[in-house]
Amino acid sequence: MLYIDPVACVDCGACVSACPVGAIVPHSKLDAAQLPFVEINASFYPDRPADVKLPPTSKLAPVIPAAQVRTRRRPLTVAIVGSGPAAMYAADELLVQQGVRVNVFEKLPTPFGLVRAGVAPDHQHTKHVTRLFDRVTEHRRFNFYLNIEVGRHVSHAELLAHHHAVLYAVGAPDDRRLDIEGMGLPGTGTATELVAWINGHPQYATLPIDLSHERVVVIGNGNVALDVARVLTADPDELARTDIADHALRAFRKSAVREVVVAARRGPAHSAFTLPELIGLTSAREVVLDPEDQRWVHADLASVSDPLTRHKLEVLSGLGDGSAPASRPRIRLAYGLTPQRVAGERRAAGVEFSVTATGAPRHLEAGLVLTSIGYRGKLIRDLPFDEAAAVVPNDGGRVVDPGTGLPVAGAYAAGWIKRGPTGFIGTNKSCSFQTVQALVADFNAGKLTDPAAGPTALAELVAARQPDLVDSAGWRAIDAAEVARGTVDGRPRRKFTDVADMLAAAAAAPQEPSRGRRLLARLRSS
Ligand code: NAP
Repeated sequence: MLYIDPVACVDCGACVSACPVGAIVPHSKLDAAQLPFVEINASFYPDRPADVKLPPTSKLAPVIPAAQVRTRRRPLTVAIVGSGPAAMYAADELLVQQGVRVNVFEKLPTPFGLVRAGVAPDHQHTKHVTRLFDRVTEHRRFNFYLNIEVGRHVSHAELLAHHHAVLYAVGAPDDRRLDIEGMGLPGTGTATELVAWINGHPQYATLPIDLSHERVVVIGNGNVALDVARVLTADPDELARTDIADHALRAFRKSAVREVVVAARRGPAHSAFTLPELIGLTSAREVVLDPEDQRWVHADLASVSDPLTRHKLEVLSGLGDGSAPASRPRIRLAYGLTPQRVAGERRAAGVEFSVTATGAPRHLEAGLVLTSIGYRGKLIRDLPFDEAAAVVPNDGGRVVDPGTGLPVAGAYAAGWIKRGPTGFIGTNKSCSFQTVQALVADFNAGKLTDPAAGPTALAELVAARQPDLVDSAGWRAIDAAEVARGTVDGRPRRKFTDVADMLAAAAAAPQEPSRGRRLLARLRSS
């Protein structure tokens, strides 16, 4: 038997997809015959106090059924804005509860946020978390409203009028910008834009990416920087087996890039990348360090006690100095370099750094300069915004008016727009859980106003505002078309990168002609 610790588990789904025989299923999907295993698994807690009940299928306080509350007529109905991991984990938590309805609104015709557009294509395994999300979307009380932009097609007030609560899980869609001279020249950009281009995000599909120079400099050394360095130095035949966008694959096949320098302003002990990503990188690519950085690593090793940092330093200490000629494109990790300006007249020709400790100038020639200094949240219309932290001010997920310190009725946040752009996919599991817990507590306490109209009124409103609405069946048609296009070349999928192509594929979903009508029919029957 396999034991999964329910406290440590973040439902990332990796074990589910890794199991070759499909023997691992989420607790919420156990059938009656399998339920005894909940108890058997729970008995593995040696020190579980006798009075603690077995874990329920959801850790949430149960939603009080509408019928038991005199003033309440409608079952809990929640709008979730955004469809990335935080949104889908929140939907999953809510749908485990009896009778709760969830409508997910997403501005693209395709769901799953950064899992589709942010995870590097050579990390297909990470993208398997969408299998968990697919199961959530199949729930009969779940609806997708894709290709709908909240703030444009429908307002916050309109959503709130049709739901008890609106939960924003919109992520951090902007980049932190590095304000130095020369950024903005052709040949400069951000790593997150490059990742979106590689992943076929329709908004970035036409980004001019010039790979005709031997060197790329990436400023910042977080996991995003490692992702782009790894993909920029990958064998295109390897990438051709992934879901990378066709335009990116074509560009990589012609790439002249031989070296990617990942430049950090601080020292090795402050590397922002995580240990697993460093180990993954060094096992897949030639990664080198200049001799002076090697010496710095050894000096740090002598003084640092934190075990994780020490482990990173030990991996770094085993890297070569790059003096031997490289047979394949390689990655150079560089430390103590503060970017001053991008060199070049009409386009980027390199980066002028100052050595952080001494101020001495250091020039690195490059044809592409990418900043990778983090994502940034964006103001949501009609909600308060904390400019400094670039998050929606909140208390454990309840949106708070910073003027009064009071919760904004019916408004909630989860994921990066709640806590800032840190953590991996699974971190959103507990983050969303906390928000859903607050939301359900407010519902149970009678603090959330019943929607003014039923689900069909919402579907009618949305269909009237956006005739090109894509529903769950539409998304499944897009998904199936992409997978079919990929199968021909032995790829997991070949993505559509143009919204018009996505809409054409969605229109091929069964029960056409009207997607709005299909959704309405489904809502009326459920
Ligand atoms: P990040 O981890 O916050 O790294 C930002 C980097 O930018 C740091 O090296 C930072 O250096 C540097 N920086 C910030 N301001 C700078 C400035 N003005 N000049 C020069 N350098 C500057 O950001 P990220 O790489 O975008 O990642 C965001 C989150 O997503 C992280 O939690 C990351 O772990 C996660 N992620 C995870 C995976 C994965 O699990 N595979 C993949 C991608 C992303 P200082 O430390 O000196 O400030």
